[in-house]
Formats: sequence, C-alpha cells, structure tokens
Amino acid sequence: MSSLLIKNGLIFGSQSQEIQDVLIKDSLFAEISPVIEPPENTTILDASGRWIFPGVIDPHTHMGIPIKSGYSADTFASGSRSALHGGVTTILDFSVLEAGQSLAESLNTRIKLAGESVCDVGIHVNITRFEPEILAEIPELIARGFNSFKVFTTYAEANMMLTYEQIEAVATIIAQHRGVLMVHSEDNDVITRASEPFADGKEIHPRYHGLSRPAKAELVAVSKLGEISDRTNCTIYIVHLNTAAGLAKTTEYPLLKVETCPHYLLLSDKMYERKDGQMFVSSPPLRSQADCEALWLGLQNGQIHTIGSDHCPFCLTDKPMGTPFQDIPNGMGGVETLFPTLLAQFMERHLDLELLVRLTSRNPAEIFALDHLKGAIKPGLHADLMIIDPRSIADNWESRLDTSLDWNAYTDFPALFPETVIRRGEIVVERGSLNSPLPGILLKSK
Ligand SMILES: [Zn+2]
Repeated sequence: MSSLLIKNGLIFGSQSQEIQDVLIKDSLFAEISPVIEPPENTTILDASGRWIFPGVIDPHTHMGIPIKSGYSADTFASGSRSALHGGVTTILDFSVLEAGQSLAESLNTRIKLAGESVCDVGIHVNITRFEPEILAEIPELIARGFNSFKVFTTYAEANMMLTYEQIEAVATIIAQHRGVLMVHSEDNDVITRASEPFADGKEIHPRYHGLSRPAKAELVAVSKLGEISDRTNCTIYIVHLNTAAGLAKTTEYPLLKVETCPHYLLLSDKMYERKDGQMFVSSPPLRSQADCEALWLGLQNGQIHTIGSDHCPFCLTDKPMGTPFQDIPNGMGGVETLFPTLLAQFMERHLDLELLVRLTSRNPAEIFALDHLKGAIKPGLHADLMIIDPRSIADNWESRLDTSLDWNAYTDFPALFPETVIRRGEIVVERGSLNSPLPGILLKSK
C-alpha cells in the first residue's frame, strides 16, 4: 500500500479550518489530524505556509461537443488536462442525443469518449426528444447511477427544446426516482420575439446577441420551472443562471438549485464592445455589471449553490471577427481558470474561502449524489486536493496555462494557480506543471 503524507497545510473543506496533516493511503483520505507520524514507505510533502483545498468538481463542461458549425475546441483529453492544472479533479459533462439514438446509446457513446479524460468524469444525460421510449429509460439510467438529466426551454430551431408541459412530465418521472432535472432556462417565446428586429441581417455586432436573448427570457423560464418543481416535487437545477431578476425569482421555490458561471460573475456585457467582442458570445449572454454584483450577493447569501465553468471553448479562428452574431459559435472556455481566478476574487472581496469550497466541491457532490466519493477532505473519500501558496497571486499567468486554446477571457484578472494537485492519491500536478496522469474514472451517483 502506497501512502502520502502532507504536513502542516491550512486545510479548507474539512471539519475545522486549521493547520493539520493529511494522510492519503492508496486513493483515499485516511486521516486528518494535527500531527500524523508517517507510516513506513510514505512520501512526505511539506505544505507549510500553504493552503489545501478539496479538488474542484466542475458540474458543467462540454468537451468536444457538436455545435452548429463544428465541435467545441477541447476534447476530453485536452480539456481535462487543463482542468487538472487549474485544480479541477472532476468534471461533469453531458451526453448528446443524436437522431434515432436511445438515451442509453447516447450515454454509452459519451462514456466511451470520456475514457480519454484524466479528470474523473460524471455524465449528465441530455433529453432533447420527448418520446415514450425515451421517458421509459429514465428509471433504468437512474438505477445505473446516472441520476441527472438536462433539458432545454429553447433551441427549438435545433430540435433540442422541450415545452414546459413536456418538462413537467419528465420532472414527474425524475422526482419519483429521486434524480435531478437540470434546465437551460431561457424562454423560447421571449427570445423569438426579441430576435425579430435582427432578422433582416442589418445589425450583426456581438452587442446585439444580448438584446436578442434578453434577461426577461430567464425570468420567465425560472418562474415556470419553479412552479413545475413545486407541483412535481422535483429538484430542478438551473444551469448558468445570470440575471438579478432570475436569481430573485429562484428564491421563491425551495426545490430550485442554482448554478452560475465565472463569466457571469467576472465579465459584463461591456466585453462585447471590445475588438475581440465576438469571443465573448455565449448563451445566455453576458449581462450588466448590476447583474454581476447581484450574483456575487447571491453567492454570499446562499441563493446560488454551485459554480460551473460551462466550458465550451473556441479558438480565434472558430469565431472570426465580423461574423454576424447569430452565426458565432456560442460558448467560452473556463475550466482551467475557474478556481484560480475565483480564489483571487474571493480574497480581494474578503469573502469566506469555505464558501468557495462549498460552491466548488461540497455542493456539487451533494446535489449530484457523489458525496459518498468526493466533495470534502474527509477520511474515506477520494483523495482529491490542491495545494496553493497564497503568496503566489499573479497578474501575468497566461503563459503558464496548460491549454491547447489560443484565447482566454480572464487575462485582466489576478489568479492563484495550484502548486500541487492530487487526484485520487496520484500527484498529477507538481510545482505547477502537469505530470502524465493516469486516466480518470467514470463516476456514478449513489
Ligand atoms: Zn452548457
């Protein structure tokens, strides 16, 4: 049995925040206490003056998914490498339901692709067709350990949308089997109406992307989904929530869980005025600075439960300048910068770092029923952690990224990257550089 002892780190995400030793045996946390004598054949890491955080669980990534004009730019292999470099040891990605496929077939296809991941991986199951055979599969998949399903209230033109009535039917089944329903929450009717003025193709600037998908779309969808959660008793997880009004509405419904993303906290719609404004086109769009600040408050008062990257990156050549906003591939990268930039922001804003740990590891583990495996520094759980030197906060860090992408949105922000990352007991990042990690494992909910 191999063991690893980390000495004298300040530990977040354990019972008490204090300087302790962490003993890892094989892939699991074995003991956390003030002084641990090293067993025989133990590798010792000195973490004096360092902070130790649980490995991040990113509940929302899209590695190599088909979009209108090709594929998102990171594969499971490249995206998971950069994830580890930023302290993300687990990613939760989504299956893609192709025409004629069953849910199980779409899931199995995705599991195969995810085999290249060096992060541990869970898969949410996308439901983009409403058919009796599809609904009949939901209980079987939950029994197999895949308990989270995602639907869309928009993208009718891409045949991905379910109506609210259909979503209610799906929610009813998921609730009976204690799963989670994730919803992309932008109302399709609101978007259709708001897009009409741009149909003649005269206004093509990225700033009109936001006007064509207004904040009201989120408010309308969240209200309807809140009512559905009340009627069906289904836990509904609102992905990438990004407006003040939508957030306020979620507080009326106890069964709604709320995710936001780094780009909605850190970047406002002013970005669309930059020369590279097209690179910030994602759906939902970036909002006003007031919305950003409302989200920061929402984090602090417990109205927001998780932070997902919605990692769906594109390179500069994938989003050429001058492309009409309707034709720009939607999505931005962010899995590698998620924790390093947010940690720096939490420090600047003097926020509780235990809150950051809850948002980025404990809460996603609990919501997606992975807390028997992950989400804390606790004996018996997977030994996923990162060690950070709090003095290493840096402004110019872009060249240190471990990414195949040629553009990132966060160059103007300070960041703290981990020195060491450990995924299930294996040291995958050392002195800030990636080793050659073993493949990740497929995660199943309890
Ligand atoms: Zn997404």
